[in-house]
Amino acid sequence: MNQQNDTLENETPVSSTMLSAWTTESSVEREPQGLPDGWEMVIGLDVHAELATETKMFSPATNQFGGEPNTNIHPVCLGLPGTLPVVNGKAVELSIRVGLALNCTVQRCIFARKNYFYPDMPKDYQISQYDRPLNINGSIQLPSGHVVGVERAHMEEDTGKSTHVGDSGRIHDAGYSLVDYNRAGVPLLEIVSHPDIRGPEEAKAYAAELQAIVIAVGASDGKFEEGSMRVDANVSVRPAGSDELRTRCEIKNVNSLRSLGRAIQYEAQRHVDLYLAGDKPVQETRHWDEEGGRTRAGRSKEQAEDYRYFADPDLVPVDPSPQWIDEIRAALPALPRERRQALLDAGGDPENVAMAVQRNLDSLALVAVSAGAPIDKALVHIVNNLAVDGAEELNAEHFAALVTMESNGDLTSTQAKQVLGEMVESGRAPADLAAEHGFEAMDTSELDVLLDGIIADHPDEWQRFCDGENKLQGMFTGQIMKATQGKADGKVIAQLLASKKST
Ligand code: MN
Repeated sequence: MNQQNDTLENETPVSSTMLSAWTTESSVEREPQGLPDGWEMVIGLDVHAELATETKMFSPATNQFGGEPNTNIHPVCLGLPGTLPVVNGKAVELSIRVGLALNCTVQRCIFARKNYFYPDMPKDYQISQYDRPLNINGSIQLPSGHVVGVERAHMEEDTGKSTHVGDSGRIHDAGYSLVDYNRAGVPLLEIVSHPDIRGPEEAKAYAAELQAIVIAVGASDGKFEEGSMRVDANVSVRPAGSDELRTRCEIKNVNSLRSLGRAIQYEAQRHVDLYLAGDKPVQETRHWDEEGGRTRAGRSKEQAEDYRYFADPDLVPVDPSPQWIDEIRAALPALPRERRQALLDAGGDPENVAMAVQRNLDSLALVAVSAGAPIDKALVHIVNNLAVDGAEELNAEHFAALVTMESNGDLTSTQAKQVLGEMVESGRAPADLAAEHGFEAMDTSELDVLLDGIIADHPDEWQRFCDGENKLQGMFTGQIMKATQGKADGKVIAQLLASKKST
């Protein structure tokens, strides 16, 4: 049985003046596109993010992923006669947080009915926003420096989830369909970019940055794998350097960054092939087939007028006061770009810095650095040893203490890695854990005495080492490690050997 989550989706109104007013020129170096010479991609992304509220957009039903089908529901999300929607204030606040983080203008906005006939939306319309969205005219600067315009970020409700039971999993040849309304009415923010993206890698960078932003401001958990972030890619191609906008196809509901890149590459090449054959693409919705590595035609694309949008008479306009917007702005946390910059300023390696921020563990590195620990060691632990559950709850002072112990030579890197793993599991301080393992610093004078004994036992080898047979360093180091059960620091042994050799 195939399962296909098939939802009708919207045509976002885009005025041609908005498009032509937006400049896509930039001085930033862009990736090569992987298209035949003379062609370029034109990509705009519509990203749906589920908002992290307790309850749904217009009803008191629980907003929670998973659960038995049709348990998190309420008469409002089922569209039963006589029910009235009530706007979730928290959803508005989270939407404004994202809008401000995207440099948008936040404005008085209106909910609109987007009408269509489909079983995943029992009212036969989705409450969305049309000509008066909450957030308009924003932008996202990518790590490369390229700025992608954000046309709008509007509020709407999610649809239910339908499962078409049949060989293809598609509705037209299903024997029957099952509908789960747990997701119906979950608050969504749809963030619509300008067609400023020129390749698959840039599209992935945009989606990743947007994901980092919604997570940073606490608006969404941003999980592609649970469908709380879903990307629709509008793809067209044109002769390189031209500013025309040719027929685009919309690839729906891509659910990972990797698939997004592959789907865009495939689709753009398909368009070029059509043009080169003297043909042209038709405007339509397409679906990404991960196994086949290709897109497939869905329904032909609705035009905005097919949805017969009109202002929802059950809902009043939302008019956020300037004071409220200011309060939300003042409470915004540092955004991913600033957070990366803080670690870069502290001398962090750019790739490790990006990873630390993406994992939301950058504050650990900052606390470690301000406690005097070296940033490279801190970042290496974060990147290599903290890709584990529970890493976010790690006590930052404990982490700083661990990195300091390691850089002081009180712990070897192997010991530090082991202690760190136990810190994540137990929440205990590194000094206590190290002491329990007997990982305390081997006093250099202790090692000194030990080494003298080993030299006395191996006079010939020592003489040859002093005469320049350097490979014997490994033999002496091994003897000390054996005698100390691996607790000695290799660097300290090397220093001791060097100083004894020269005297
Ligand atoms: Mn939408």
